[in-house]
Amino acid sequence: MLVREAKLLNGTKEQYLALDDAIRTAQFIRNKAIRYWMDNQAVGKADLYALCKDLAKEFPFAKKLNSAARQASAERAWASISSFYSRCKKKEKKKGYPKFKKHCRSVEYKLSGWKLSPDCMTIAFTDGFNSGTFSVYCNKETREDLLRLKINRVRVVRRSDGYYAQFCFDADRKEQGEYTGNVLGLDLGLKYFYKDQNDRAVIYPQYLRQSEKRLKKQQRRLGKKFVKGAKPQSNNYHKARIRLGKIHLKIQRQRKDWAIKIARCVVASNDVIVYEDLKVSNLVKNHHLAKSISDASWYQFTQWLDYYGKIWDKAVVAVSPHYTSQDCSNCGQRVKKSLSTRTHSCPHCKIEICRDTNAALNILKKGMGILGISWQNSTFGQKESASWEGKRGEKTASTIDGQPEIAT
Ligand SMILES: [Zn+2]
Repeated sequence: MLVREAKLLNGTKEQYLALDDAIRTAQFIRNKAIRYWMDNQAVGKADLYALCKDLAKEFPFAKKLNSAARQASAERAWASISSFYSRCKKKEKKKGYPKFKKHCRSVEYKLSGWKLSPDCMTIAFTDGFNSGTFSVYCNKETREDLLRLKINRVRVVRRSDGYYAQFCFDADRKEQGEYTGNVLGLDLGLKYFYKDQNDRAVIYPQYLRQSEKRLKKQQRRLGKKFVKGAKPQSNNYHKARIRLGKIHLKIQRQRKDWAIKIARCVVASNDVIVYEDLKVSNLVKNHHLAKSISDASWYQFTQWLDYYGKIWDKAVVAVSPHYTSQDCSNCGQRVKKSLSTRTHSCPHCKIEICRDTNAALNILKKGMGILGISWQNSTFGQKESASWEGKRGEKTASTIDGQPEIAT
């Protein structure tokens, strides 16, 4: 499924309020479905669909929402229920019992309830809320896809800077990838965003750190305006709240943009990429160190690695991070070290390399083991480590200002 996004512009205040009502109703139906599942035994998806019909009879505002959109809301409830079931089956520690939603921001329409104009410049929502016609503001690719492809679903999303429509197309993105003959093992770390087995590091860019500082400042300002027990809060509080929301949105977009570019670059220049599956580990046990601002981007980055691997037909492998930093990549012996030890020096084979590089090598070996290729550690050995030391400085320096070579 391919998803494209467009902004909904040129609506009146009433029109946007109508969209808000539709979103609120979708949330209402989802929560009602969860409630129904909690209160009754052996509830299936079909029961939730039936519930939608009953709700429409009972509540006039629920009837306003397009019937397929009502079902889509029930499907959302079902998604959280069924993923709870599957986590129970897998006996996971965190089962994630379905929760009620308080601040839903989107409503999903299926094939009806909306209508695009023939030139795809405007979209009208035609269900009981009657939100009317909006201009569709998007880039060229999205416009072409809108004209060309079949739309399965339309999602209306509210963000702090406006309303967006997400179009889900009935197509998969498939492109011809270029094979380069390179393999890459990535160690996602605290000091670097990642380090590969060739000792190349990518650093979390400074501009992202700076916007995160701005976020903290705005958060403090909002905190000062909050009056405990006051209902409603002051106008200035809400103004500050919206400003904070916009900063969040900007950082979210910057992070995403960066993660996509890095992931794209990594997958484009390698055929096999191995990374550690951070979900398996509980990240870093030392919490003082773990509070790194890059955590949020790691997961996103690995998601995009998987994505590009899929569309370009390349092997992207996630391996468990157990002992990747402890084991010696050269002789395989386990060398215990604390988090603060930055170099890996093996007492058995006398090798001395950066701990992250050592981890990246182990990760690559693990991944190759999964793929069934025995990777010969040919370019890297004890003898070469001396010449390597010299190169390391300049290699890191070229990427230090947050501009790794990006091919987009
Ligand atoms: Zn060793």
